[in-house]
Amino acid sequence: MGKQPDFDAVVIGAGITGMYQLYKLREQGYSVKGIEAAPDVGGAWFWNRYPGCRVDSESHTYSYFWSPELLQKFNWTERFAGQPEVLSYLQTAADLMDVRKDYIFNQRVRHARWDDVNKFWVIQLEEGGSVPITARFLFSAMGPLSAPQMPNVPGVYTFEGPWYHTGRWPRDPNSNRGADLDFTGHRVAVIGTGASGVQVIQEMAKVAKDLYVFQRSPNWCNPLGNAPLSQEEMDEIKRNYKALNEFCDTTLSGFPHKWIDKHTLDVPAEEREATWEELYKGPGFRLWLGNYKDYLENPEANALVTDFVRRKIRERVKDPVTAEKLTPRDHGYGTRRVPMETKYYECYNQDNVHLIDLRETPIERIEPTGIRTSDGVLTEVDVIVYATGFYAIRGSLSRIEIYGKDGRSLNEVWREEGVSTYLGLMIDGFPNFFTLVGPQNGTVFCNIPRCSAVAIDWNTGLMQNVLDKGITTIEADPEAQDEWNRLCEELLAKGLIGKTNSWFTGVNKNVEGAQKREVLFYAGGIPEFKELCKEIQADNWRGFLFDGVPATKLNEPA
Ligand code: FAD
Ligand code: NAP
Repeated sequence: MGKQPDFDAVVIGAGITGMYQLYKLREQGYSVKGIEAAPDVGGAWFWNRYPGCRVDSESHTYSYFWSPELLQKFNWTERFAGQPEVLSYLQTAADLMDVRKDYIFNQRVRHARWDDVNKFWVIQLEEGGSVPITARFLFSAMGPLSAPQMPNVPGVYTFEGPWYHTGRWPRDPNSNRGADLDFTGHRVAVIGTGASGVQVIQEMAKVAKDLYVFQRSPNWCNPLGNAPLSQEEMDEIKRNYKALNEFCDTTLSGFPHKWIDKHTLDVPAEEREATWEELYKGPGFRLWLGNYKDYLENPEANALVTDFVRRKIRERVKDPVTAEKLTPRDHGYGTRRVPMETKYYECYNQDNVHLIDLRETPIERIEPTGIRTSDGVLTEVDVIVYATGFYAIRGSLSRIEIYGKDGRSLNEVWREEGVSTYLGLMIDGFPNFFTLVGPQNGTVFCNIPRCSAVAIDWNTGLMQNVLDKGITTIEADPEAQDEWNRLCEELLAKGLIGKTNSWFTGVNKNVEGAQKREVLFYAGGIPEFKELCKEIQADNWRGFLFDGVPATKLNEPA
């Protein structure tokens, strides 16, 4: 054996996933170091501080269910908490796990290289100079939505007024909130109408003198149904956490919404309509994830729900031309993640809100004073808000380099061969490297804290096996990886989500090489994913190579 590494494990990221993974490894007796680009914990909730930012998961399900202590300690004050409260929850969790002491903050990992002689990772920090960190195992918890993406339109950095990306909103140094920016009386442009855009537009519409919404693709948005949570309601929730946990464990994505066990077309039209009316009111993803069980697979069923939501837009937006512009034409309801809103459509009934349909007049360029569209019009504004989203799922991995066993980088391998993983957790050729909530994982299409904890609890078993058997390297078996790819592909092909361009399917028009759909998540649902993982464990960790030997052969006599 060669040199010893500095640490048994390094975890990149101090969001909800990284903190828990680090904590579990430390509990197991691994020496561990965390590295986080931000000055503190929180991940997505540290960075996204734009006005209106809040969860679309019911707050009390957006939790670490593994900690009864934390469940009982924390009081949510809204059904769908705002960003400062979610961040406060994660800070409380960090205190409870006492993880901050193990993190290096304000440091970005630039690259990591597998040292095949010493069998460890050599991890280069942005500001580490010539001194890297070494670790036997490397865990990426860099986030599925943590690589903000600017629009690739000419002149984007020429604007002379202030501009902000929702995913990197300036922060108030003394609180969990965003900086105290006053948009009152300003001319504000928002580019993008995904979940972030919708939330920020609702707030800007209240204060801006003129709000110009630059919309390329409208989405099917639904009422969130937010409300304050009283102490009595919170006490009731606390009494029922066990039952809630058990229920969410049975749902597709860990949300408290379950399919109606009927096929859409088997239900009489009147009954369907009444059901959708009820679900549409919310709270949360009831219409999206609590609908008839076949509507995201059967195009005919999907067309009916889509028509229902289309009518809702027409009811809520007074001007029919504007309503039509706000109506998606390129995808059916639910096939992209549904932005949740509070009086979003009503904003367009206000005189100060102007919708610019980029399907008719694309942005030509950003100029020092505003945004010029293809009709030659320059919309002059004081502030630009980029709600243009993220290079999702694989973006954070793509922004660093991970060099595997044969010196090739993960970016190169995936560029040439396509994304491919085993369980969305390991990649052939990259020993001892684990991706959490990453490509092809079962935790991506999910209420993420619940689902990522499922995966981490399972990793803990895997890492215990490594510890118990004194194993130095663990790798994905290439055959098992191929099989996993095929399964992910088959599952995604079954539904309409897999046939739609969105961040779920890896399409990002701003990113070179991300124009085509990819198989980026396991679409079988979290209960099945959990079962599958259990079965793999019971089959002696099928599909992994331990010190180069297939796990299933380890116990065979020599
Ligand atoms: P993150 O929270 O993204 O944390 C990743 C961390 O890794 C970040 O702190 C980042 O700084 C760090 N990092 C990345 N690269 C590096 C590097 N090279 N070096 C060092 N550090 C690095 N999901 C839901 O289930 N429900 C919701 O209601 C919900 N709302 C959301 C709202 C917004 C505005 C956004 C952006 C996302 C939302 N999500 C929601 C998805 C969200 O990503 C997850 O819920 C969750 O935050 C993921 O946690 P994570 O720890 O895996 O990743
Ligand atoms: P997003 O869904 O990817 O939306 C980005 C928006 O920017 C899209 O409307 C996109 O249009 C537009 N856009 C991108 N590039 C553009 C360009 N060059 N010109 C014009 N328009 C451009 O990103 P997001 O809104 O940040 O949301 C991402 C995910 O984060 C959500 O789906 C959700 O999972 C999570 N999130 C959740 C919440 C919540 O409610 N809890 C809030 C925010 C985010 P096209 O569609 O045409 O590309």
